[in-house]
Amino acid sequence: MAVNPFGLPGEWLKGNTHCHTNLSDGELSPAAVADWYAGHGYDFLSITDHRILTSHAEIERAGMIGVPGMEVNGWDEASDCEYHLVALGLKDLDTLPPGRSLQEAINNVKDDGAVTILAHPHWLGFEAPWLESIRELDCLEIFNATCQLLTGKGYARQTVDGLLALGNRFGLIASDDTHWRGDDAGKGWVNVRVEERTSAAICEAIMTGAFYGSQGPEIHDFQVEDKRVTARTSPATAVRFMSWRHTGQVALAEGKPQTEWAIDLRGGEKWVRLECVAPDGKVAWSNPIYL
Ligand SMILES: [Zn+2]
Ligand SMILES: [Zn+2]
Repeated sequence: MAVNPFGLPGEWLKGNTHCHTNLSDGELSPAAVADWYAGHGYDFLSITDHRILTSHAEIERAGMIGVPGMEVNGWDEASDCEYHLVALGLKDLDTLPPGRSLQEAINNVKDDGAVTILAHPHWLGFEAPWLESIRELDCLEIFNATCQLLTGKGYARQTVDGLLALGNRFGLIASDDTHWRGDDAGKGWVNVRVEERTSAAICEAIMTGAFYGSQGPEIHDFQVEDKRVTARTSPATAVRFMSWRHTGQVALAEGKPQTEWAIDLRGGEKWVRLECVAPDGKVAWSNPIYL
């Protein structure tokens, strides 16, 4: 059910899908958190305190769309690994006990109709084969700003490509996971393609892959037609067309940053996902196009 957001009708909304307040382990109040994001051009925000649903009235007071959210942590016995699962768009759940397994936690969230996002898999030490049999995981965080700031393990590119190689399909989220204990706000977000400015439309778009993650650069188009891959981006120095095993290619700007990109597939690719690198080194990540 993965869709390509580029060319879909609607508009792009910028939002952060993962942050904390002083109602769990963050430093700022919900009102201060909402004011920060509203003041930095965000259209929507999900406050995802640990195992509790923080009221999103403050988000809406600040003029943004509030997406009800929560982060659930627990121990996955099968992988002997702690998991953190971000749930977006909760309807009836306002607290969630830790599941006995990651799959059980996902099932609880899916029973409520919400979006499931595996948070910071590199930091927690998740390896792709452990996740192969997991079902109904909508997204993984390919970038988590707090984990990068505090532990250097904010990127999950290898987990993502390993899991794609095993045949799993999911979207790639960039988030702040803001705790307000350092410079961890405004570092990673998603641009979501929607026709309605509502929490439900945002969650539906994230569930179907109608979004991309970014630290700054913009992706304006990304298509695969016949064996030709094309992209349009904000000015960039490189675009990495990531794919299976040894396949995939990097296109480098010639001279100055460029905005139009194309490569020809060489054969053997099973998916293509785009990483756009800005002159300042910041990256945007498309979702995979499955071939
Ligand atoms: Zn977490
Ligand atoms: Zn978190």
